[in-house]
Amino acid sequence: MPLPMQGLSRDEVLTTLESFRAQDLPWRSGRVLAYVYDPGKEIEETVKAAYMKYLTENALDPTSFPSLVRMEREVTRNVIDLLQGDANAVGNLTSGGTESVLLAVKTARDHARATRPEIREPEMIVPLTAHPAFLKAASYFNVKPVTVGVDRETFRADVDAMRRAITPNTILLVGSAPGYAQGVVDPIPEIAALAQERGLLMHVDACVGGFHFSIMRRAGEYHGPAFDFSVPGVTSISTDLHKYGYSPKGCSVIMYRDKALRRHQIYACATTTTYALVNSAVQSTKSGGPVAAAWAILHHVGEEGYRTIIAKANDTAAAMGAGIAAIPGLRVLGQAEMCMFSFTSDEFNIFHVADAMRRKGWYLQPQFSTPWSPENLHITVTAAAHGLAEGFLADLRAAVDEVRAMPDQIDLAQVRQTVQMLVESLGAGAVEQLRSMAGIEGDGTPTEWAMLNSVFDALPDPILEALLADFVNDLYA
Ligand SMILES: *Cc1c(COP(=O)(O)O)cnc(C)c1O
Repeated sequence: MPLPMQGLSRDEVLTTLESFRAQDLPWRSGRVLAYVYDPGKEIEETVKAAYMKYLTENALDPTSFPSLVRMEREVTRNVIDLLQGDANAVGNLTSGGTESVLLAVKTARDHARATRPEIREPEMIVPLTAHPAFLKAASYFNVKPVTVGVDRETFRADVDAMRRAITPNTILLVGSAPGYAQGVVDPIPEIAALAQERGLLMHVDACVGGFHFSIMRRAGEYHGPAFDFSVPGVTSISTDLHKYGYSPKGCSVIMYRDKALRRHQIYACATTTTYALVNSAVQSTKSGGPVAAAWAILHHVGEEGYRTIIAKANDTAAAMGAGIAAIPGLRVLGQAEMCMFSFTSDEFNIFHVADAMRRKGWYLQPQFSTPWSPENLHITVTAAAHGLAEGFLADLRAAVDEVRAMPDQIDLAQVRQTVQMLVESLGAGAVEQLRSMAGIEGDGTPTEWAMLNSVFDALPDPILEALLADFVNDLYA
């Protein structure tokens, strides 16, 4: 597709962009229970204005735009204070949870290179409820991920298993507050004590919960395990602002207990013919927009405003959770501390429920089974869903009735058997057959996702990973 020789008018550009949205999830409805954190119209407009004000400024060189340094320091300090860091704690803004986690792992690796040079093949211990960003970091930075199981009832990290997994090469232990999948907080004080006892670093991934929980804690409403810098042995924490801080996308905070540790995060290079480069995080050229927007929302909403927002999300999640638990055939997984959780069914294929709900305008996020958790649907509840719990539950009850009445329900056990046979007998050739079985031939997007999800659920992880990577490789061709 060639670039247009004559440019489109402003109106043409904007109308065309609007028309592109037709197939996107309609997040303004509040019915998209993943991906979007909508603070409401008035806050959204203020924050967008702040973002636009600094859209063009570049945070590449901290001496050129001191306003960006100032805002980054202030926002970071606000979040460190919320997470009970002392005057020695430091942090930086990043583009998101993934960048924060990547940096925590890279920092741990370089800290180990400096302080434990005898380690040639560093390892980190990651409970399987942790976000995939840790395994991504491991693959990017050549740190060996040692994954450990979790409790199948509570979905909390198994600290004894973590203890047993420690070797002379271990550099870092990981815990989540909470894990995204079930909204459950790991026993952070126990993991941190183990780290301290063995002289290891410990990262708390509070990407999704750190901000929300901290505001709750200050209101006396957080009753889960301690997870912040008040816990001895916690050496770094990641907390996203673009999730439950309701900031526009592109903002997370990576924090360290002190500057000596954070020093390993910073990259400088003066060897090439171009300018001497020094980066606090991964990105180099970066817009001032996310920084200004984060500053704006924290200062515009304030702690009281966040308490109101959080109460709306929590009340809605509690009503949804209780309602789901009361629907025969559905089962909520673990006890979420966060306003996000997941549920499964022991009686029917839960992926059909996702399809039925999608037809009713709700988006619920499928999560595949693992040896530690059954296949399930995840929901992220935000303030935007306030007032929708009753309608959601009515639709969910109807969806469950529809699925129970389906004559051609996909039997997961049977799909597993077929997939296993295919994989064993065809090896690599199985992938093509699987594609057609899952309904991803031709132009792609299925309207019924249940078969696709059932096949994906049944696939061995390496094959699913290859299939997904191929899919994305083709998608952007
Ligand atoms: C979302 C999330 C991440 C990754 O953050 P992104 O902003 O999507 O890159 C990491 N950890 C947890 C617990 C998360 O919920």
